[in-house]
Amino acid sequence: MSDYPVPALYIDGIWLDAASGGSRPVINPASGDALAALPLAGASELDRAAQAAQRSFEVWKQTPAQARWECITRATRLLRERADAIARVMTLEQGKPLAESRREVLLSADIIDFLAEEGKRAYGRLVPPRAPAVLAQAVTRVPVGPAALFTPWNFPINLPARKVGAALAAGCSAILKPAEETPGSAIALVRAFHDAGLPPGVLNLVCGDPAQVSTHLIAHPAIRKVSFTGSIPVGKQLGALCAGGVKRYTAELGGHAPVLVLGDADAAQTAKLSVAAKYRNAGQVCASPTRFFVHRALFQPFVAAFVAGARALRVGDGLTPETEMGPLIHARRLAQMEALVADALACGATLACGGQRLPGPGFFFAPTVLTDVPDTARVLREEPFGPIAIINAYDDHDDALARANALPYGLAAYLFTRDLALAHTLAARIEAGMVGVNHFGVSQPETPFGGVKESGYGSESGAEGLAAYLDTKLTSFASP
Ligand code: NAD
Repeated sequence: MSDYPVPALYIDGIWLDAASGGSRPVINPASGDALAALPLAGASELDRAAQAAQRSFEVWKQTPAQARWECITRATRLLRERADAIARVMTLEQGKPLAESRREVLLSADIIDFLAEEGKRAYGRLVPPRAPAVLAQAVTRVPVGPAALFTPWNFPINLPARKVGAALAAGCSAILKPAEETPGSAIALVRAFHDAGLPPGVLNLVCGDPAQVSTHLIAHPAIRKVSFTGSIPVGKQLGALCAGGVKRYTAELGGHAPVLVLGDADAAQTAKLSVAAKYRNAGQVCASPTRFFVHRALFQPFVAAFVAGARALRVGDGLTPETEMGPLIHARRLAQMEALVADALACGATLACGGQRLPGPGFFFAPTVLTDVPDTARVLREEPFGPIAIINAYDDHDDALARANALPYGLAAYLFTRDLALAHTLAARIEAGMVGVNHFGVSQPETPFGGVKESGYGSESGAEGLAAYLDTKLTSFASP
């Protein structure tokens, strides 16, 4: 028996362990065993959540930013106190190593704290009037309204934290729909707010059939803002639904991050950093480095160091202390990895290591490296979202840059070189929302996270993260 908690929905301040949409199992991806039954919301619960969010919005938006900050930071204190227990829940339902889960909980508290601070700085401005009779033209920033927030399973508390933290700090109420695969971490987040005394209805949590929930909530007149993190096809569908009601929309979608390793880079050190970044969370990261373009002079030593690092990774149950890479989230993703590898090999790529699922229970796939992958291979165009690295040699960095920019994705990109002037020029030409030069750390509470092209629009975290939940309002005062 695991110590996974009984999942519940949370609507208008009340926990519900049964709902009209039935239930589905939550699976431990390290074993394939069911952890618990998750209640699923039907239309009646979704309407109740929307009504609660609408009613409580009137209360929360009037609450002074300082009082909102006090409540939100009481919740983040609880998150930190509970980090060990929440990390265990996350590893059970998502599979990532326990230390990664714990870091994610603590980082989520930092993200929310940063946004809560920013909530006190949602400044407006006074614009000098043209006519003498006009006393003041005040530009203020006001909360958009109740928000529907959709998050995936790869970062089960970090992604909800970015959205919930920003919405609540801005004065919006919210309905969170976390991934049905990983509800326990999101429930722990919401429980911290409940225990911190957040007024009923300001934050609600529902799970259900994802398409039904999003269609129902986005069409609901109470909902004024939608934020989604997930795949590009779903992001486009939700964007179209938002357009129907002219609802504000933030979309953080997939990526297929290129990495340019220039001829003057340190091959061994770059490979070491790259292995750690590539296989973090089993590669199920939207900003995961995937398409490595390595200068031909470094290609052999880079591949050798990368493959040695990938082979040395300890793959296993995230609860085992030695584990460095856990399972994939579900069996569908294993089949996806196998299909991408088979297609690449059929196109003429070389398999340098991995390439197959691992024996035993659970959804484990070996850390995989493909080299000399032709442009015709699907894996060079489709985001693998798993533990597959593609390493190709290049001769001319203009050509490498063109290949890096050739896809519709534009989330993260990375480049490694000692030549910072060249790095500056290349970084300016890379089509990506975030560029890491000589490191992979592009996701911090203080900095905006978001993509260009089909990787989405809008940013989360940083000051921009709060702005996504604020409208601009002009009030112009004239003498009576
Ligand atoms: P998926 O598209 O079925 O699901 C991704 C997430 O979107 C899940 O949390 C799911 O519940 C949600 N979702 C699906 N349909 C929805 C709908 N109509 N309305 C609202 N939410 C919906 O894919 P999957 O097999 O679970 O994941 C694989 C793909 O998802 C990856 O290839 C990757 O591109 C994408 N993904 C991206 C991120 C990211 O951080 N950008 C995170 C997870 C998954």
